[in-house]
Amino acid sequence: MKIVIDPARRMPHAGGVMSTVLIIGAGGVGHVVAHKCAQMSEVYTEIHLASRTVSKCGAIAEDVRKRTGRTVRTHAVDADDVPSTVALLREVKPELVLNVALPYQDLPLMDACLEAGVNYLDTANYEPRDVAHFEYSWQWAYEECFRKAGLTALLGSGFDPGVTNVYTAWALKHHLDEIHTLDIIDVNGGNHGQAFATNFNPEINIREVTAPCRHWEDNAFQETKALSTHRAFTCPEGVGTFEIYRMFHEEMESLVKHIPSIRRAQFWMSFSPSYINHLQVLEDVGMTRIDPVEYNGAQIVPLQFLKAVLPNPGDLGRTTRGRTCIGVVATGVRDGRFKGVYIYNICDHEKCFEEVGAQAVSYTTGVPAAIGGSLLLQNIWKGPGVLNMEQNDPDPFMAELNRRGLPWKCLELTEEQARNLHVV
Ligand code: NDP
Repeated sequence: MKIVIDPARRMPHAGGVMSTVLIIGAGGVGHVVAHKCAQMSEVYTEIHLASRTVSKCGAIAEDVRKRTGRTVRTHAVDADDVPSTVALLREVKPELVLNVALPYQDLPLMDACLEAGVNYLDTANYEPRDVAHFEYSWQWAYEECFRKAGLTALLGSGFDPGVTNVYTAWALKHHLDEIHTLDIIDVNGGNHGQAFATNFNPEINIREVTAPCRHWEDNAFQETKALSTHRAFTCPEGVGTFEIYRMFHEEMESLVKHIPSIRRAQFWMSFSPSYINHLQVLEDVGMTRIDPVEYNGAQIVPLQFLKAVLPNPGDLGRTTRGRTCIGVVATGVRDGRFKGVYIYNICDHEKCFEEVGAQAVSYTTGVPAAIGGSLLLQNIWKGPGVLNMEQNDPDPFMAELNRRGLPWKCLELTEEQARNLHVV
């Protein structure tokens, strides 16, 4: 990996100084990030958006112009191609790359940022195309290069990972001397009116959901069959009761590393009976396979073909009703006694659509990406190096969540409530 730094570009700028951002990825999340950066004009003074299909950037830029009056400059880029991304970075000269393309692009984009001397942020950890396996080791391996270059890479600044890491760090800072158990619960109580659709990129979503479940217990990740453990969960504020399924999620990997007192960490996500039935059939007939099969003389990957025929999550905003409820139950000790808290956000799909023209899953990912970027650009969160969210002071991020559309609440739980995940 070659590192060439332009010293004029390498440090984030303090508030009040011009800061240019390059958003990469013009999907559902990119749409929200562009709108939120445009709203945060005091930090993001110049906004560029690049993606593989430049017409999608143009459509987002036009929507941002209509809603905020601000200009978003657009570019075509294949982020898998490091030299052409470096060329774009040298032309645009951003202080920060906000990567909201796909997890496959994380490493090429980190390489390009190192070469051009630009800070980096993403919302999902690297995943190789040919194995449905994601872990931080590949990106943590860049620590020394980023540190030496005086650059910062902020990993996982979405909602989960992202806000859930910050909630955990905040619980540790303000409520618990030690965290012993962590349950991250992601409920999408919305209904998009489609028989089957995913909340975000279908390929990434289905790879994640069908992977074996791993949770942290007895100092190791324990593997169980995908979606084999589930239970009912009642959300606060009348969002409803949903079946939540235990699965692996990447923030557990960084959280148990950085908060070693955690004895058990589990991640739960809600799925409707219809989603589970469709997924089961698709799996049974081989449509979720990620290895290529020959069809009419061409090699096709069934899951990529499936993505092409499923609804585009970015288009679901118009029809989605209901709310998301994502939160963290953290238990442990305070002054030698049990303490448990539930920190959560509830987000309304229709309100998100009204504000930025996107559904709540894209919104709850895009807003934290824009916030994480703004804290870096203002030098409030600082590197250099490769950082996970919980390694930073949670307070400024928690304050920004309240300001920027994702307000949160914290409930204290009894030991029995926490054990049974009864938060209401
Ligand atoms: P989409 O599929 O809607 O958008 C991805 C965009 O990236 C598309 O515009 C696509 O271009 C573009 N892209 C793909 N490959 C390349 C490439 N090689 N070069 C340039 N652009 C490329 O996905 P979402 O917006 O739903 O998700 C974006 C990211 O957010 C994903 O990594 C996802 O895992 C993450 N995410 C994180 C969450 C969190 O809470 N942390 C929650 C939800 C999502 P094209 O249109 O041409 O295909």
